Amino acid sequence: MEFKKGHKIKVKGSDEFLTVIGKLGEGGQGIVYRVKYNGCEYALKWFFQQSLKNPQAFLKNLCQNIADGAPARSFLWPILVTEQTEGSFGYLMALRPPEYKSFTDILNAKVRIVKHSARVNAALMIVESFLSLHRQGKSYQDLNDGNFFINPENGDVLICDNDNVAPYGVNLGIAGKCRYMAPEVVMGEKPGMQSDYFSLAVILFLLLFLSHPLEGEKVVKSVCLTDEHEKKHYGSNPVFIFDPKDNSNKPVRGVHNNAIDLWPLYPQFIQEAFIRSFTDGIKSNEKRVSDSEWLRLFIRLRDEIITCGCGCENFASSAKAGDSDELHCLSCGAKMVRPLRLNVQRYSVALYPGNRIYACHTVESSMDFRTETGRVVRSKNHPNLWGIRNLSETSWQAEMPDGSKKVVAPNAVLPIFKNIKVSFGNVSDAKIV
Ligand SMILES: [Zn+2]
Repeated sequence: MEFKKGHKIKVKGSDEFLTVIGKLGEGGQGIVYRVKYNGCEYALKWFFQQSLKNPQAFLKNLCQNIADGAPARSFLWPILVTEQTEGSFGYLMALRPPEYKSFTDILNAKVRIVKHSARVNAALMIVESFLSLHRQGKSYQDLNDGNFFINPENGDVLICDNDNVAPYGVNLGIAGKCRYMAPEVVMGEKPGMQSDYFSLAVILFLLLFLSHPLEGEKVVKSVCLTDEHEKKHYGSNPVFIFDPKDNSNKPVRGVHNNAIDLWPLYPQFIQEAFIRSFTDGIKSNEKRVSDSEWLRLFIRLRDEIITCGCGCENFASSAKAGDSDELHCLSCGAKMVRPLRLNVQRYSVALYPGNRIYACHTVESSMDFRTETGRVVRSKNHPNLWGIRNLSETSWQAEMPDGSKKVVAPNAVLPIFKNIKVSFGNVSDAKIV
């Protein structure tokens, strides 16, 4: 049965009611309604009576998740549950704004993420979500591209359907999709943090290369993907499409053009992380790239983005161009100055006008990739003179190439020259190279 407009549903453990406004959508598990609660509009997911194997355990887990709170701001987290009525129940969450597009549509090329910065931001937010979930000792039980929504303009991410999030080891009886599962889970093992690392690598690969890491020639040849074939390609004998030692599953031109065209554009350190994840990391799960490692890698990738005068974003280093070749804009072909770099902690920021440095660069062991602490600026009178404006509240100490010392107060600009050493306070190993 379906609720009609105006139908009222009681909130569990309260005298309040939700009022149905209309239907938003329907899936295998239930119906999503637009509802009014306390004068604001929300989404209500209402479960089909038969869709849950163990409704009481499911409800208990859901209530615990509500009590724990959202792990990160990207989660459209359950807010409250309703009383049981008509043999079932539902939970309330925020509405998804229309500018967020489904990851499925992005993978089907119905929606395009044009800018590197938007794509890298989406990757950072997805990794941050996994990291914060793992810190709560939880994992996804049903990971698929229908969970993710991305604003293609800026890469902002929303994660929906979080009712299947549960602590490690708890099984809600929901089977994920093979394409997102670690091989050992496809073969019947219980999911855990290490298998989540594998799923995370799959999502990130899909986001960057719009192709699946294990779907190459070998998979194309097996005409229809039966359960048995699925088990083989994702479970017992998975082969990475860019495995440097095994080309039996290489991408096929005409079928996997995205993978073939996009792979060389990325810097080598990104390629290496995926190679590790899908070669050694397939068999021994301790070799997988962890969520905190992915976070550092995508901060590094963001540090590589430089914007040409035509507006197109390029990576300052890509596997294709190598380090010695000239740098040309991918869009207009103009020659771009290969920028100097700020080497700091484990990062190397391309010092190109408009680029930013963040707390994760200038504050010791910080993972804060949002708080800007500096920005590369161009002198108005001398456009060839570039500098870093100090946007932090701490004075920086610089040692100029001639050995002289300079204090860069907040809002002052440090000119960019090779061999300047900078101390940002407790991070004192920075050098412009
Ligand atoms: Zn250009």
